[in-house]
Amino acid sequence: MSAAPMQQAYEQYGGQYGGQQQHLQPERSLSRQLSQVSLDGSAQPHARKKKDRHAYHQMDTPVTSPGGQYMNGQIGGQPQPGSTPGPGTPSAAPWQQQQTPTQPWQSQSPAQGMNQPLPQAGTPISMNAGGGPQQGQFGGGGQGRVNPDHIPSVPLSRDQPADYYRTQMYPTMEQRVPPPATTPLIAYDQGNASPKHARLTMNCIPSSQEQLAATALPLGLVLQPLAKQSEGEQAIPVLDFGETGPPRCKRCRAYVNPFMIFSNGGNKMNCNLCGHPGEIQPDYFAPTDPSGVRVDRAQRPELLLGTCEFLVPKEYWSKEPVALRYLFLIDVSAEACNRGFVQGVCDGILAALYGDDVDEEETNGEEESDGETEIKPSKVPAGAKVGFMTFDREIHFYNVSPSQPAPQQLVMSDLEDPFAAISAEYLFVDAAESKNNITSLMKSIPEMFFNIKHAEPALLPSLQAALSALEASGGKIICSLGSLPTYGPGKLQVRDKGQTQGDDDHNRKLLKTEHPGFGKMQADLVKAGVGVDFFLAAPSGGYLDIATIGYVAEKTGGETYYFPNWTYPRDLLRLAKELSHTVQRDQGYAALMKVRCSNGLQVSHYSGNFTQHTFGADLELASVTEDSGMCVTFTYDGKLDTKTDTYFQSALLYTTTSGQRRVRCTNVVAHVNESARESMKMIDQDAVVGIMAKESAAKVHDRSLKDVRQHLQEKSIDILAGYRKHFSGSHPPGQLVLPENLKEFAMYMLGLIKSRALKGGHEPSDRRIYEVRLLKGMGAAELSLYLYPRIIALHSLEPEQGFADENGHLKIPHGVRASFSQIEEGGAYLVDNGQILLLWLHAQVSPNLLEDLFGEGCDDLQKIDPNLSALPVLDTLLNAQVRNILLSMEEGRGSKGLAIQLARQGLDGAEFEFARLLYEDRNGEASSYVDWLVMLHRGVGTELSGQRSKESGDGVGHTITNTISGITGYMSSS
Ligand SMILES: [Zn+2]
Repeated sequence: MSAAPMQQAYEQYGGQYGGQQQHLQPERSLSRQLSQVSLDGSAQPHARKKKDRHAYHQMDTPVTSPGGQYMNGQIGGQPQPGSTPGPGTPSAAPWQQQQTPTQPWQSQSPAQGMNQPLPQAGTPISMNAGGGPQQGQFGGGGQGRVNPDHIPSVPLSRDQPADYYRTQMYPTMEQRVPPPATTPLIAYDQGNASPKHARLTMNCIPSSQEQLAATALPLGLVLQPLAKQSEGEQAIPVLDFGETGPPRCKRCRAYVNPFMIFSNGGNKMNCNLCGHPGEIQPDYFAPTDPSGVRVDRAQRPELLLGTCEFLVPKEYWSKEPVALRYLFLIDVSAEACNRGFVQGVCDGILAALYGDDVDEEETNGEEESDGETEIKPSKVPAGAKVGFMTFDREIHFYNVSPSQPAPQQLVMSDLEDPFAAISAEYLFVDAAESKNNITSLMKSIPEMFFNIKHAEPALLPSLQAALSALEASGGKIICSLGSLPTYGPGKLQVRDKGQTQGDDDHNRKLLKTEHPGFGKMQADLVKAGVGVDFFLAAPSGGYLDIATIGYVAEKTGGETYYFPNWTYPRDLLRLAKELSHTVQRDQGYAALMKVRCSNGLQVSHYSGNFTQHTFGADLELASVTEDSGMCVTFTYDGKLDTKTDTYFQSALLYTTTSGQRRVRCTNVVAHVNESARESMKMIDQDAVVGIMAKESAAKVHDRSLKDVRQHLQEKSIDILAGYRKHFSGSHPPGQLVLPENLKEFAMYMLGLIKSRALKGGHEPSDRRIYEVRLLKGMGAAELSLYLYPRIIALHSLEPEQGFADENGHLKIPHGVRASFSQIEEGGAYLVDNGQILLLWLHAQVSPNLLEDLFGEGCDDLQKIDPNLSALPVLDTLLNAQVRNILLSMEEGRGSKGLAIQLARQGLDGAEFEFARLLYEDRNGEASSYVDWLVMLHRGVGTELSGQRSKESGDGVGHTITNTISGITGYMSSS
């Protein structure tokens, strides 16, 4: 590390502070400023600058009237989706009118320091490795090696669109390729679903399997059907068609959508997916106007919006839908008690149910006012009920119904044939009505069991008992566990003794479960529509057999929260946030899902966390939440007609937390081109990465990790070589040419290979299988962060950063590349991969910075509380800036609670995690970003010369000594 960056860091920090002290805001005006911060960008975007005008067509109306587009049926005077005259007029749809594939933000330079205009045909990087002497276009220094500053930057690829969409809406039919999944955006649904709900790998589909094969890319969708709408976005409409249910195609059962064609004066509905001209049900009839558009179209959200919900009648029910029942199942055995986990779970449940309102009143949530009893609502979704169980060697049910003067415990000690010891009527209560009893129970449990301390929890019988309480209704079990369940039926053993290294059959077995009891349990849960979320804590880093336990969450569509090294009190905040999220988020249960596609294509394969009994069967998700992501790939039946568009529809049938049975429909449209050349311009990188990540994760059970990584490398070479062969035009052989929309693809693949799920070297099986399942269940935005963290430098914040700009949008500093060469001495960094949030502090960080961040007297790394999980609230500029930045990071996350984990250089174990997350560097046996590109480039060269043998690749672990010294030196010494 040279001295220059250090000096720079001090100057930036010193400079900022030197002149800023007098501007520090008193707390009150500070909070006023904070209250103006609009994280969702819901304020009116300011008028567009002239230079933007070429990028969008007729944006003015949608931008200035975000709401109610289906109320008037006018979309800024432009052609409307459903007014497309239909098959036979390929250029009629609005999104097809845009002739330039360049995205607004892509007109900017693709990489820092790169001044050359971007060639249209892709991004060449001079590799100058193994290809003889080359004129290194971006060659770095005298060595003629690849300059790491000139290879595509993930932070830049995120920051530019994020800046752009701070003031611009995203019209779903006009942009051909959505911005990166991490971009906070306000989507304007014009008939095509928002990219939050669905992303297609190619927004222009090649007409034949042969053309697709030339690209080596998958054709598929990544879906997140219940993804949360941003503030400023219209709520998804819920439509009621009464007893007849939503109109559907009589042949393929597709739901009515904006692309159905109404013919015969409105008497027939021609299905956009299968082409079937069906008679319209009489109560859905409306005449069509001369252009073939239904006259009532403007009043019909289902004919205007890409995402809609339909209430469904009884024939869609498997059982009478009721509001969601949450059953908390708390491990109270010795280890969980001793390590403060029981305490954390009980406190966390109270926070989840009542927020900060826990200690306020002791009157069972009732307040007298004007002679009437008012009950303050809880944080539980309206209508939903809660029930409580605990378990160690026995199973305990609790009656906390408001009629009880105090909580009543009922013990079930029959572990062989457990059943619910209390009727559902008394077990499940309204959290607000029973606040007094619930509060008293949660406060007494930790102490009560601290004195008993049965050593071993009996998990499987407890799940069995919980299931029997929920069997009739369906619902959700939220189960905590603090040690390996070694007692009673279904007891587990320590399979992973941590002794064997590497990637052999034994280690692969540890990632699987063949336990018949847990296998049957998950099947029974799915059948009953009961999902399980686990909160697992390994207090001393111990083994929990997550392969077996988490299998229940995986197959039921539930989620596992895992604390691999549970530390009290450090992890309390994260636990409380995650418990709150798991209770309060948008979700449903007893779900079935199916994706339909146009004639000519068929569904090939689904990946995600769910149950699918046979090929072609609907996916069963006992639990589905706003965070649930899955993907589906397609194959060709024949040749697609380039004159018609291709459609996709995902339908999720589920019961809401309030007890309504609904179908969430997500519609996606793409046009078809004879050649894949057009498709290459419309690749959605996040969708491609998402499908490759989920499919790789699914392979872990059948293939060695080395094979899975090797496959990713070969597939990456196939894609880049395919582009080079067929689409890129002519480039010198010394250049690696990346497709414009896949510039960061190689980096994301490297991140995937380096992830805990797939990386080489030793990894405890619990952590590995946990992360494999994470990969399978994540949405696109969460995945992007997981594969490449967001790093923010705190020592060099500009005074206005972390505050709202003149339009009310929070100004967030740009990200730093994940390489130690980019880390400045004396620096302070936030590192967020969506799962953990590290606050890394250099050993020589300025004492002033520490005091401003952590409080007076905290002027040395040693003085910071190692259990710190959130910043104190101080009236310093820096403290306010960082707290605001943390809030915005939290907003953009998936399901995991944001809590700080300190990584002080030379002091905290989390420093190793920091080093691991510097994905651009060489780490262990995995190569650096530069080496990885060199390797891919060599693979492309071999393929182009016809000499490639897929069996004898270089191997992912192979690295090439490069000239960038200093990047990797740190890793080996840390
Ligand atoms: Zn159909």
